[in-house]
Amino acid sequence: MDKRIILDDKAIDRTLTRIAHEILENNKGAHDLVLLGIRTRGIYLAQRIQSKIEKIDGITVPTGVLDVTQYRDDVTDRVSQDVVAYTIDTDMNNRHVVIVDDVLYTGRTVRASLDAILDHVRPKRISLATLIDRGHRELPIRADFIGKNIPTALSEEIVVMLDEVDDKTQVYIK
Ligand code: 5GP
Ligand code: MG
Repeated sequence: MDKRIILDDKAIDRTLTRIAHEILENNKGAHDLVLLGIRTRGIYLAQRIQSKIEKIDGITVPTGVLDVTQYRDDVTDRVSQDVVAYTIDTDMNNRHVVIVDDVLYTGRTVRASLDAILDHVRPKRISLATLIDRGHRELPIRADFIGKNIPTALSEEIVVMLDEVDDKTQVYIK
């Protein structure tokens, strides 16, 4: 199996530092920001961005978890629209919510995320940060903050490893 490393741990760290700066620049500070990481690896990326922002601006941005399994358009036995798919310790109404994920592909997970949020709250704005954009969108969705664009073949897969859950931190293509 072919394995081509795209980002090592230092590159991932620099990339997340840049994204943290971009979010702050775009939002004109950390005011009203909320970070929501998509399970699983988006959670750790969101937490890493949170700590970068804390180092830069001294503000701890509320950071939560989004699990959109029940909102996927390919889920047929959906339990109920009443399930709250996110866990966050703050009111997201009128806040700027940044969804954080590891890989953006067809866009269906992000579409589900928007539903999961908008079923319950009205943020003043929702944007998207992704570590990798691998292309092949099937919906009109794009990311606001991108770590790296990796044009992939459909047969390829991006492997994201983060030492919070894996034995090392790197991104490779196989
Ligand atoms: P989408 O819903 O945009 O098709 O896919 C995005 C979701 O599936 C993300 O949550 C991401 O974790 C996962 N995903 C899609 N393609 C890949 C890939 O090549 N590598 C990894 N690691 N995750 C992927
Ligand atoms: Mg995922």
